[in-house]
Amino acid sequence: MPAASTLALHSIRSRIVHAAKAAGREPGSVTLVAVSKTFSAPDILPVLAENQIDFGENRVQEAKGKWPELVTHYPATKLHLIGPLQTNKVADAIKLFDAIHSLDRPSLALALGKVLAKADKPIELFIQVNTGDEAQKAGVHLQEADGFIDACREAYKLAPVGLMCIPPVAEAPERHFEILARLAEKHGLKKLSMGMSADFEAAIAHGATHVRVGSSIFGAR
Ligand SMILES: *Cc1c(COP(=O)(O)O)cnc(C)c1O
Repeated sequence: MPAASTLALHSIRSRIVHAAKAAGREPGSVTLVAVSKTFSAPDILPVLAENQIDFGENRVQEAKGKWPELVTHYPATKLHLIGPLQTNKVADAIKLFDAIHSLDRPSLALALGKVLAKADKPIELFIQVNTGDEAQKAGVHLQEADGFIDACREAYKLAPVGLMCIPPVAEAPERHFEILARLAEKHGLKKLSMGMSADFEAAIAHGATHVRVGSSIFGAR
């Protein structure tokens, strides 16, 4: 019998294809990042076996514990850090991850610039924007976003590829997806990391290139 996550993965993939086509987009323009945080290697293996390449984790320490071994068996795997990154974990993060979706402050940009200058692999950087201006949430506040994006490029010599957001839970996400898409366009950033289990289809309609789906694949956490 296939694992529940295998069937769920197939269902999410087909919903992504439908949402992309409905939006007049190429299905291949949307990358599914399977968010495996809190799940252990035995839970992740059935999904890896379905040729799932991109996975998201929100903690460096947790990812370090389970992924290096899995990656030896599935070397095509790409790991995305989708949670907050402490500056003292930057070196570890760069070793393990292929993309960081949570670049959100000058101290982190500075630390990343230093480590990336010596790194031997390309890392995709997404700037996280706090589109709802929520006090407790990570991400650069909206009114500081233009300045921070410019500083990443000019002062910190980084080459961000896109923007990321997590809309406020109590609000309709569409407005936030639209804000993020406009900001990305204004700055010539091509990639948009937005949309989770509850709203990835709406995110695709607004241009998401990376949807981060966890519980709809792996189950409740
Ligand atoms: C956990 C998490 C997700 C996945 O959320 P689901 O609702 O389980 O799909 C996506 N993005 C971030 C930043 C997360 O922390």
